[in-house]
Amino acid sequence: MSAPITVQKYGGTSVGTSERLQNVARRIAARAAGGDRVIAVVSAMGKTTDSLVALAREITPNPAGREYDMLLASGEIVSAALLAMALDALGVPAIGLTGAQAGVFTDDTHNRARITRIETDRIMTAMDAGQVVIIAGFQGISPHSDFTTLGRGGSDTSAVALAAAVHAQRAEIYTDVDGVYTTDPRIEPNARKLHDIAYEEMLELASQGAGVMHPRAVEIGLLYDLPILVASSFKEDLPGTLIRKQVQMEPSNRVRGIALDRDVALITIRAVPDRPGIAAQVFGPLADAGINVDTIVQNASAARLTDLTFSVAHDQAAAAHDLCRQVAADLGAGAVILDEHAAKVSIVGTGMQSGVGYAAKMFRALAGASVNIELISTSEIRITAIVHEDDGRKAVQVLHAAFELDEPVTATS
Ligand code: ADP
Ligand code: ASP
Ligand code: MG
Repeated sequence: MSAPITVQKYGGTSVGTSERLQNVARRIAARAAGGDRVIAVVSAMGKTTDSLVALAREITPNPAGREYDMLLASGEIVSAALLAMALDALGVPAIGLTGAQAGVFTDDTHNRARITRIETDRIMTAMDAGQVVIIAGFQGISPHSDFTTLGRGGSDTSAVALAAAVHAQRAEIYTDVDGVYTTDPRIEPNARKLHDIAYEEMLELASQGAGVMHPRAVEIGLLYDLPILVASSFKEDLPGTLIRKQVQMEPSNRVRGIALDRDVALITIRAVPDRPGIAAQVFGPLADAGINVDTIVQNASAARLTDLTFSVAHDQAAAAHDLCRQVAADLGAGAVILDEHAAKVSIVGTGMQSGVGYAAKMFRALAGASVNIELISTSEIRITAIVHEDDGRKAVQVLHAAFELDEPVTATS
């Protein structure tokens, strides 16, 4: 019977300096000494990826996807090589691998590639030879043998996918907070650490801006029922948060968490002729251009004309604005207005499926704090309000208090 496999991931801050890399190496060495076979997935050091993005922008506003991915992938490769050296220096045999060398195959959608399969032979051979395997996160290899990257924050996804591929019992994500909180503790100091959280809840929170986990990593956890531990890379003795299958048959009637997304722009097309097929004529070209449209609201207005408003991420706002101006001209619609100063605030909890009154309570709390709601969207376990970006932080704080999230959370609540 071979030793259990531990898959860990260390984020950018956790490997931000050579001292921190050496600290991570000591932690891995201790786990290996305990008999586990260890795979560690690493992010680029500190803000390296941001610097690489800025460098590319100095050269051109529109870098080719292939070259851009080659550039960004370099950050994680540096970390993997240095961490393998740090382990070697501690007398622990280790090997650093790029995503490609680790067998992480993706499609060829540069910049936001999806993992198609992982061939684990090389990882397994290295572990059988007694080596700790250090893998550059956030990257893979395309069908054309080019570097691909998985989208910002994608090292989490690399780690959870690798954990699933090697049949580990769980994935361990080590970061600069000691778990998943009721909301970002940097926004609300009264946020509380959750002992555990259901995959579905974490997926909604992550998709709505809770940057602590990459949403696709949670999706893989859900798909393979692979629990994900989120814990501190600095304080070893603190318990983290376990993202896992919903354990209660009847979840308690509570909001579990609040997410804030500041990367929101709103586009409004005024006076769109109100006839069948119009929405398809507007959103078809946006989809063809790869623009990811989020919340959509159509306001009925006078004289068979309607206003259409939708949200997009900032980096797609200019392209969406240009396209909508063309479409509006073709349709004989009115002005197209771009508002780049919006934010999305979401309350999430599986208990919301069976309870009533969450929306009313949310809107009352926001109104009480004079926060104007511009758009609303919901899922079965989430309510999202789009507000002015200046109100985002206040909205989170007000809702955190209104839904009593600063009260103690027990393991099963
Ligand atoms: P890493 O570089 O390790 O991947 P990230 O910066 O991506 O780390 O994620 C950790 C950060 O996520 C925290 O520093 C925290 O500010 C932020 N965060 C947002 N929402 C939450 C939440 N609900 N619980 C904990 N941290 C959160
Ligand atoms: N280094 C990449 C980023 O900053 C990936 C990651 O850290 O997960 O987005
Ligand atoms: Mg991250």
